[in-house]
Amino acid sequence: MSYVTGLKCRETDCGREYPNQPIHICDYCFGKLEVAYDYEAIRADLSREKIAARAPSMWRYRELLPLDHEPTVGREVGFTPLLRARNLERALGHGEVYVKNDAVSYPTLSFKDRVVSVALSKAREFGFDTVACATTGNLGNSVAAQAVQAGLRCFIFMPADLEAGKIVGTSIYGVNVVGISGNYDAVNRFCTEVADRYGWAFVNINLRPYYAEGSKAFGFEIAEQLGWRAPQHVVAPMAGGSLITKIDKALRELAHVGLIDEAPTQVHGAQATGCSPITTAVKAGEELFTPQRPDTIARSIAIGNPADGFYAIEVIRRSGGWAEDVTDEELVEGISLLAETEGISTETAGGVTVAVTKKLIEQGRIPADESVVISITGNGLKTQEAVVDRLRERSIIEADADQFDRLLNQLHVIVA
Ligand SMILES: *Cc1c(COP(=O)(O)O)cnc(C)c1O
Ligand SMILES: [Zn+2]
Repeated sequence: MSYVTGLKCRETDCGREYPNQPIHICDYCFGKLEVAYDYEAIRADLSREKIAARAPSMWRYRELLPLDHEPTVGREVGFTPLLRARNLERALGHGEVYVKNDAVSYPTLSFKDRVVSVALSKAREFGFDTVACATTGNLGNSVAAQAVQAGLRCFIFMPADLEAGKIVGTSIYGVNVVGISGNYDAVNRFCTEVADRYGWAFVNINLRPYYAEGSKAFGFEIAEQLGWRAPQHVVAPMAGGSLITKIDKALRELAHVGLIDEAPTQVHGAQATGCSPITTAVKAGEELFTPQRPDTIARSIAIGNPADGFYAIEVIRRSGGWAEDVTDEELVEGISLLAETEGISTETAGGVTVAVTKKLIEQGRIPADESVVISITGNGLKTQEAVVDRLRERSIIEADADQFDRLLNQLHVIVA
């Protein structure tokens, strides 16, 4: 049983509707398409109890996700921990901080597992046998892993010079990996051509309306894990700008179908200064962004021409949120801060999100007594290059008790 009514043009002065099919652009106005649902039917059918009785995966919200049938790929994805970050609260001088931790997402340690589960299940519903994507790293990891699980043929297109963890994390699955010389924006333009030419399911191109809906589960889980309430603030990293719009959409949908109270959440966006088209526009009060040439170590969010940048700006402004960016130096400090307070190792994008949260608290944009959720979207094991030079030095000794005694002395450790 599906509540999807089809696709709908996002441009408010167009709004044309289409039956379900693998397209992402409106033929009439070139606006972006979005999945539409019958919310009245969902409201009548869905309850907190029904959801709570289901398995702990993102598919416990399946009425609000865009499949016609049960998921066939990634049934176990989602329901990652939301934790109260007491140590980080002390470090930030803030009273109520939570971390939504997709650094431990199954199967590939980033929130992209969510969008890929939806996209590949949908690709199968449409009858595709080949799936592909343009990736800044994490998407490729997840498409490769879940394509193998689903027995789908797979092509991953990525900038040739990504971090080793991202390249190995895709190639390990034995799929077709194509490195392109050039940045993500060049890879993405090229893939639009490939998608037309070969008719494959490109998860973030022709399947984009379905794919993007998977990010809503990140927001659904936050609300349920807070005891069915929306936080006052969410901070999210932005690459193409999709995740942030879907967190907002998820919280508004839950209120719309009566699962949480109307509780407007201020949504804040985070980018690296070296690739900050969206934050630059928000800070300048512009409705449109100017594309940039990325220059930052936060490769997973280095998209100079973000597909959903316009909508991200709109959501940030409408929700009363803000946007900030941080330097590579600050993002590395953000990684260390989260690791050393909460025991969570996140990748460069997570460092950006933590550092931006700190900045927004210091600016008073996130008041110290209002709840905030920090969106941690990826795992530190994949971007070790970013921190390896600044780790605390480890001690190396022989397996010898006297040497260890001397070491404790040097470290000023007092043993009773
Ligand atoms: C892709 C990605 C994002 C941003 O996603 P968008 O929806 O494109 O804005 C954030 N964090 C990580 C780790 C990612 O891989
Ligand atoms: Zn249109």
